[in-house]
Amino acid sequence: MTNKIPARFILPENKIPQQWYNLRADMKEQPDPLLNPGTGKPIQTEELYPIFCEELAKQEMDSTTRYFDIPGPVMDVYRKFRPSPLCRAYSLEKYLDTPAKIYFKYEGGNTSGSHKLNSAVAQAYYAAQQGLNGLTTETGAGQWGTALAEACAYFHLPLKVYMVKGSYNQKPFRKSIMQTFGAEVIASPSDTTNAGRAILKEDPDTTGSLGCAISEAVEVATTTPGYRYVLGSVLNQVLLHQSIIGLESKIAMEELGEYPDIVIGCAGGGSNLGGLIAPFMQDKILGKANPYFIAVEPASCPSLTRGRYAYDFCDTGRVTPLARMYTLGCDFIPSANHAGGLRYHGMSPILSKLYHDGLLDEARSAKQTDVFDAAVLFAKLETILPAPESSHAIRCAIDEALRCRETGESKTILFGLTGTGYFDMTAYTQYLEKTMTDYVPTDADLAPYFDRLPKIPGVQE
Ligand SMILES: *Cc1c(COP(=O)(O)O)cnc(C)c1O
Repeated sequence: MTNKIPARFILPENKIPQQWYNLRADMKEQPDPLLNPGTGKPIQTEELYPIFCEELAKQEMDSTTRYFDIPGPVMDVYRKFRPSPLCRAYSLEKYLDTPAKIYFKYEGGNTSGSHKLNSAVAQAYYAAQQGLNGLTTETGAGQWGTALAEACAYFHLPLKVYMVKGSYNQKPFRKSIMQTFGAEVIASPSDTTNAGRAILKEDPDTTGSLGCAISEAVEVATTTPGYRYVLGSVLNQVLLHQSIIGLESKIAMEELGEYPDIVIGCAGGGSNLGGLIAPFMQDKILGKANPYFIAVEPASCPSLTRGRYAYDFCDTGRVTPLARMYTLGCDFIPSANHAGGLRYHGMSPILSKLYHDGLLDEARSAKQTDVFDAAVLFAKLETILPAPESSHAIRCAIDEALRCRETGESKTILFGLTGTGYFDMTAYTQYLEKTMTDYVPTDADLAPYFDRLPKIPGVQE
């Protein structure tokens, strides 16, 4: 066999992307605008300045600029861990005895262990540029907090992280990493904010949720001089920064003479999937190619597959702007049995719109024991211990490759391997000891959350 495709391919220096790609510039129909929860009117960019740093607020609202130059200092940090490898899962293909070719873009090789560093670096840079005193954020599993702590340390910015209490207690080493990089880490809900105190009063034993941690972080950002809030997913600006994943993947595949038939990503808030598919979706919108896109989410937190496409708050405390997205309702908290990440109640407005319009072809949900079956198989064959989140995409890639074995089609599959699972060994242990259970909410479980979706006169009654 000549010119065998390498198992691990890194873009050559002269092919490294220097710009982010803004998919909204090519979308024929735009996501619905963010609304001010007080007035029900579309938000103006300036209204976001008290929450977000100015450059990021502008990126959030910009649906026309197709490419944004990646600032030099951000490129300098990217070069410490990018380009990330595009890998060919030869051993998995062989084990599955499939004619399909399976590629994955591996984002877990940096010290934060996930793709989140791509946006953390950008957000910390713009905040430092604006001369801010510090940032606040929330973190669930801890990957975002870790990535942001690293980025803030690099740009000399103080950081307060509200960490969902359940994982604060379960993942003490995550907390230590953030502290090592100089971040202050507070278990949420906490008694440091009005939002936290209100939630604690109602349920003193709550293990917290992402939505609740967001409320606390936003409150502190808006009441501390020179502080702003940053978010690691969902927002348009985060998808913009994460487009680096898709851009590198597309150029790498071109270099190898390949193009994906199927692109698969796990979906929590939607940032890695949105970033991975962005340039391929551009091809689809412009009629240049027709790849099939699949989003994979946990059956216990099924926003795309079972949520409503509606205006909702991004947080439990109901203080953030309203976004139209697939949502399970802003006070939905996945079952405590759910260890597999991807716990956010809503989905990126860009991805929600693409899914609603049929451009994001399919959303699937996976049960966590099936996801961990795939994770352990993949680890043994490919020597990477995947994050539970990423393993949703692995599950789907395996299922698609098995389908190819049945039909004999040799499809080219690309999936996003977003991170490593070294801090998720509690979940792996549950799986190995067979104490892991699958929980799928019933329609009756979900109904009360839908009933509490915000009412907006003239928009959503
Ligand atoms: C945060 C995270 C995800 C999910 O977030 P998205 O915004 O949906 O990409 C997936 N994988 C890993 C490893 C993560 O840390």
